Amino acid sequence: MTTTASIDHARLALLLTELRLPTIKSLYPAFTGRADQEGWPAARLLAALTEHEVADRARRRIERHLAEARLPPAKTLENFDFAAVPMISKAQVHALAAADSWLHEGHNLILIGPPGTGKSHLAAAIGLSLVEKGLRVLFTRTTDLVQRLQVARRDLSLEAAIDKLHKYDLLILDDIAYGGKDQAETSVLFELISARYELRSILVTANQPFGEWNRIFPDPAMTLAAVDRLVHHSTLFELNVESYRRRTALEAKRGPGRPAARATPKNTTAHPSSKKSESTEGGDM
Ligand code: ADP
Ligand code: MG
Repeated sequence: MTTTASIDHARLALLLTELRLPTIKSLYPAFTGRADQEGWPAARLLAALTEHEVADRARRRIERHLAEARLPPAKTLENFDFAAVPMISKAQVHALAAADSWLHEGHNLILIGPPGTGKSHLAAAIGLSLVEKGLRVLFTRTTDLVQRLQVARRDLSLEAAIDKLHKYDLLILDDIAYGGKDQAETSVLFELISARYELRSILVTANQPFGEWNRIFPDPAMTLAAVDRLVHHSTLFELNVESYRRRTALEAKRGPGRPAARATPKNTTAHPSSKKSESTEGGDM
C-alpha cells in the first residue's frame, strides 16, 4: 500500500509522545495494520485506539495514587480476620471502603483499641480499597506528619503544607497517640485537624481512649477542641480485643488441636484495659 509508506512514523511517534498518548503510540502499528487488512471504517480505528488510551489512563492514575498513598503492603480487607474483632461489623467496614459519600462530606473514621488489635491493618485496607475506587489517600504515621508540618511551620509555610494535603480525600493518621509531647508539636496537629474539619476526611488510629487524649494534646482546651472536631461527624470503631499478634503467637505455641481462635475475646471485651496491653506490647504496627 502506498498510503502507509507515505506516513512518517518517527514523526507520528513524536507527536503522540507530545500529546501524552502512550497507549495509542504503542498500539497504533498493530491496530492500523489490522484495520487495513480487515477494512475497518476509519472511525472504528479511532474509537478503538482512544478507548484503550482512556482505560490505560485510568489504570495509570490509580497506580500513581497507590504509590503516593504509602500504604503498608499486604494489608487488605480480604486478609483481615473479622472473627477476631466481633464488635466490628464487617458489612459496615465494607460499606465504608466501597463508598465515597462519607469522604465527600468530610466524615471521619476513628479506630481505637490496644496495640496489636488490627487498627493499622484495617486503616490500610480501607485506604487501599478507596484508592482502587479512584480516591486519593495518604497513610502516615502521625509522628512523621507532625515532624513534616513542624518543618513547614519553621519555614513559615504551614498553611501551604496543610493545603497541599487537601488533595487527599482521606488522610490516615496512624497512631495519633504518639503524636508528640510538647505544645509546639501538637499545635500543628491541631491546626491540621481544624483545617480539614467538615472539608476533608481523616482516619485516626489510637491506642488510648478519648479520656486519655490529654496526653496527645497537653493543653486541655486544645484536647477538647481537637476531639470535638474529629468526633463531630465520625464513625467510631472500638477494637477492644486482645492483641492479634499476641494471640496468634500464643496459638502457634499451643499448637493445633484446641479451638484457640475462640479462647480470648470473652474476657477482653469485658475489660478493655489499655494499660495492660500497653505494657505487654511495645509498639505499633
Ligand atoms: P494495631 O495497629 O492495632 O497495633 P496492627 O494492625 O498493626 O495492630 O496488627 C498487628 C499485626 O496483626 C499486623 O501484622 C496485622 O496484619 C495483624 N492483624 C491484626 N488484626 C488482624 C486481623 N483481625 N486479621 C488479620 N490480621 C490481623
Ligand atoms: Mg498500629
